[in-house]
Amino acid sequence: MGDELVENYDALLNRLYSKVPAKKHGHERFEMPKVEVIHMGSQTIIRNFREISDKLRRNPEILSRYFLKELATAGNYDPESGILKVNIRVSSKSLNLLLEKFVKSYVICPTCGRPDTVLIKKGKTWILVCEACGAEQPVKPI
Ligand SMILES: [Zn+2]
Repeated sequence: MGDELVENYDALLNRLYSKVPAKKHGHERFEMPKVEVIHMGSQTIIRNFREISDKLRRNPEILSRYFLKELATAGNYDPESGILKVNIRVSSKSLNLLLEKFVKSYVICPTCGRPDTVLIKKGKTWILVCEACGAEQPVKPI
């Protein structure tokens, strides 16, 4: 009898989920980019760093500064190849978590939750401006 209840509950959930449209029109869900990593000795190379920055519409220099600061290490972004070299060994899992943290703080609008934002500087203050709802949120300078 207990099993039957569980099954029924699952069936109910399935029915509910099947009614939710996979994609709403004109309201595409934000897709978190993932890092492509190569480890070379004690170095970590993010191959798709520029692509990630482009996708997030953020300057790769700013994103690389954030990464190196958070990882407390040195490294450099090469604008020619679009890769970021980090002078320590970091797992792609840690880098993806770091990227998510960046997106939450510097890309997603805290008011409406959309990623259509730009990062601007007013004097020494950094502000996340949302193009979707117009909200302005001061953020910690990187
Ligand atoms: Zn917004």
